[in-house]
Amino acid sequence: MDTSEIGQVQESFDQAVAHIEDLKSLQQLKVEYLGKKGKVTGLMKEMKNLSKEERPQFGAAVNETRNHITEIIEQKTQTLEAEALEAKLAEETIDVTLPGRNFSLGSPHPLSLIIENIEDFFIGLGYEIAEGYEVETDYYNFEALNLPKSHPARDMQDSFYISEEMLLRTHTSPVQARTMESRAGKGPVKIICPGKVYRRDSDDATHSHQFTQIEGLVVDKNIHMSDLKGTLELFAKEIFGEEREIRLRPSYFPFTEPSVEVDISCFKCKGNGCNVCKYTGWIEILGAGMVHPNVLEMAGFDSSEYSGFAFGMGPDRIAMLKHGIEDIRHFYTNDLRFINQFKVTEDGGAKNESI
Ligand SMILES: [Zn+2]
Repeated sequence: MDTSEIGQVQESFDQAVAHIEDLKSLQQLKVEYLGKKGKVTGLMKEMKNLSKEERPQFGAAVNETRNHITEIIEQKTQTLEAEALEAKLAEETIDVTLPGRNFSLGSPHPLSLIIENIEDFFIGLGYEIAEGYEVETDYYNFEALNLPKSHPARDMQDSFYISEEMLLRTHTSPVQARTMESRAGKGPVKIICPGKVYRRDSDDATHSHQFTQIEGLVVDKNIHMSDLKGTLELFAKEIFGEEREIRLRPSYFPFTEPSVEVDISCFKCKGNGCNVCKYTGWIEILGAGMVHPNVLEMAGFDSSEYSGFAFGMGPDRIAMLKHGIEDIRHFYTNDLRFINQFKVTEDGGAKNESI
């Protein structure tokens, strides 16, 4: 019996395993020696050529080699697995001293910023914020505001009609009408109504078919024009600077009587005349007036007991003036180069102090 062949198999394995450096190659080596067609299995097959007496000794020698190979492969497997884990851990080490990644914060829309500014100011004066429907009935959008069907002033506010009686609201005044009605003739009412409004306008640098409005309404006993003037003066100083003055000019709105246009002294030239104020020293900023008795009566208030004032302004125009924005369409085209100029600062404030 020749057992030197067994010795050769073991020796060649020992040499081969010494050069193995990864688990995959080790697995291949295992198959090469211990697999069904492997070298050790091949040795076992030679048993049949041996005499009965020789077989046990040969078998024992092959088993010994198989055990040797199995043991070495197990040890090597453990070693390589440990090495692989080490390498993975080293690769995934977190460097806690690296600075964190910055999150890209969105920025509030400039119109949202100006609306929030204005809301904060009026909340400080004790006003509530009232919101309403963008799709309104003809009654609340016009009739309840002293604009009966066929009233010529309706021409100034052509809208998008859903049906004969339903339309996209042309102003936030329907919120005033609805709020007054809900109070069932009992004051005080002290609200501002911010929101989107729609008019059938051709879009250009100063007109948009969609824009925003903030209207204010105060109804109570003993409300006078002087209350309106004082309120608007405070507002002008808050939004456009402490030195601003206001000027009231007579005007006409169907829902107020008397009605006024309100100008502020120019914040750019301090009244000397410039392109912003068209060389007049004054900038038209909003419309206002004392609530028309018809409007009070239609909403259920006794106009001999109650009086009130109302005003309406366009945040678009105010934001354009404040930030020197030359085209209203910038607000609605979602161009990031424009929007990103109004980034929120780290303390949560906003860079919107252009004046
Ligand atoms: Zn000016």
